[in-house]
Amino acid sequence: MVITRFAPSPTGYLHIGGLRTALYNYLWAKRTGGKFLLRIEDTDLKRNSLEAAQAIEEAFKWTGLSYDGEVVYQSQRFDLYKEYVRKLLEEEKAYYCYMSKEELDAMREEQIAKKERPRYNGKYRDFKGTPPLGIEPVVRIKAPLSGEIAFEDGVKGRVSFKAEDILDDFIIARSDGTPTYNFTVVVDDALMGVNHVIRGDDHLSNTPKQIVLYEAFGFSVPKFFHVPMINNPQGKKLSKRDGAMDVMEYKNMGYLSEALLNFLVRLGWSHGDQEIFSLEEMIAFFDPHDINASASSYNQQKLEWLNAQYIKNAPSSRLWDEALNFGVDLRSDKNSAALADMLRERAKTMIQLANMAKSIIDEPLSYDEEAVKKFVTPTAAAYLKSYVAFLKNYDQSDAFEGATNEFLEKNALKLKDIAQLIRIALTGSSVSPSIFEVMGVIGLKAVLERIQKFIDFIEN
Ligand code: GLU
Repeated sequence: MVITRFAPSPTGYLHIGGLRTALYNYLWAKRTGGKFLLRIEDTDLKRNSLEAAQAIEEAFKWTGLSYDGEVVYQSQRFDLYKEYVRKLLEEEKAYYCYMSKEELDAMREEQIAKKERPRYNGKYRDFKGTPPLGIEPVVRIKAPLSGEIAFEDGVKGRVSFKAEDILDDFIIARSDGTPTYNFTVVVDDALMGVNHVIRGDDHLSNTPKQIVLYEAFGFSVPKFFHVPMINNPQGKKLSKRDGAMDVMEYKNMGYLSEALLNFLVRLGWSHGDQEIFSLEEMIAFFDPHDINASASSYNQQKLEWLNAQYIKNAPSSRLWDEALNFGVDLRSDKNSAALADMLRERAKTMIQLANMAKSIIDEPLSYDEEAVKKFVTPTAAAYLKSYVAFLKNYDQSDAFEGATNEFLEKNALKLKDIAQLIRIALTGSSVSPSIFEVMGVIGLKAVLERIQKFIDFIEN
């Protein structure tokens, strides 16, 4: 069974690169009928916070990604890690190193002076004597001194590192006893049964170290998929300036979570030239072996376009549930379906949709100055007055288009003589959906009141 995981370090909010990694792991587990686990890597007690861990869970909730089983917190597993450090010490696959900071610094300086790569010199690797007093030792792994560490990456193909270039008997436990990052990842992935690791390629250079640890423990090495970073449109590393980074900010900007997931799945993966994927389709098609080996590029217009597509196709109940986030509650309004039909083609974000809904449902508090200047001619008030008088007496007053045509015909007027005036009267501005649709949604009483108010405004 495929077991994947998402293993964020809770140092802040969940950023979109992290969400993409989570999504890929989620999809692959779902596609294969496997499991997707969540592990919070919060061993750095100074930099990690509970709020950050909660922010990750909040983002998961918003996007609908669900994990199997309980969340694993590394901060609750220190005893376990100690046990595994002890195991390697007992088997002499790891050793205490008593080098003081001064000694380490001196060694480094000397190596740099000799133009050598700074590295640990192996002083305590096979040390049998009496350890120096007053030094809390670190624990180092006995890493291979030569040869090659290679693996077949599912995205990048064969990747290999020369042992002497990177390994260096790296530290697995600090002098205060706390385990290091590469150590905890290996112990946890192995104990949690993780066999497919999909993660950012910023971790690529950790992988040979982790492989050394898997082998030291006799654990089987998972299959790795290192996903290239998301770049900005200029091909540089994506930064805050290029777009929102916090996943929840996308919610605040009026994006639907389906649109964001669809956007992210395509940043680095494709399936023919299909652009729109429901979650079911993503699950049916996603395979991490198809992840692009080159970096992808963040494109805000694409996200907007996708969001507009999702808004267009969302049922009205969904739209009004989302609109609650933007202060609009039309869930039990009898016209909410008609209003959704009117707006869903026009909005790129939920903010736009909510604002348009507000501008129709709420009586305008003011009128757009430019629009008034442009469309209020000396005949405006007279036209509107006779229109109001006509509508009042029209017996099928909810068929606004027919009624208006009859009015225009009787008075030898054209629609353009009154359309913008009515629009400003109803919504306060000269841009809105069809005035007849707006009238249909707000009803005759509100139509008459709003036009009368505008007449009063013109006359004063
Ligand atoms: N905790 C690491 C991070 O947030 C990820 C570790 C991993 O995926 O192996 O970057």
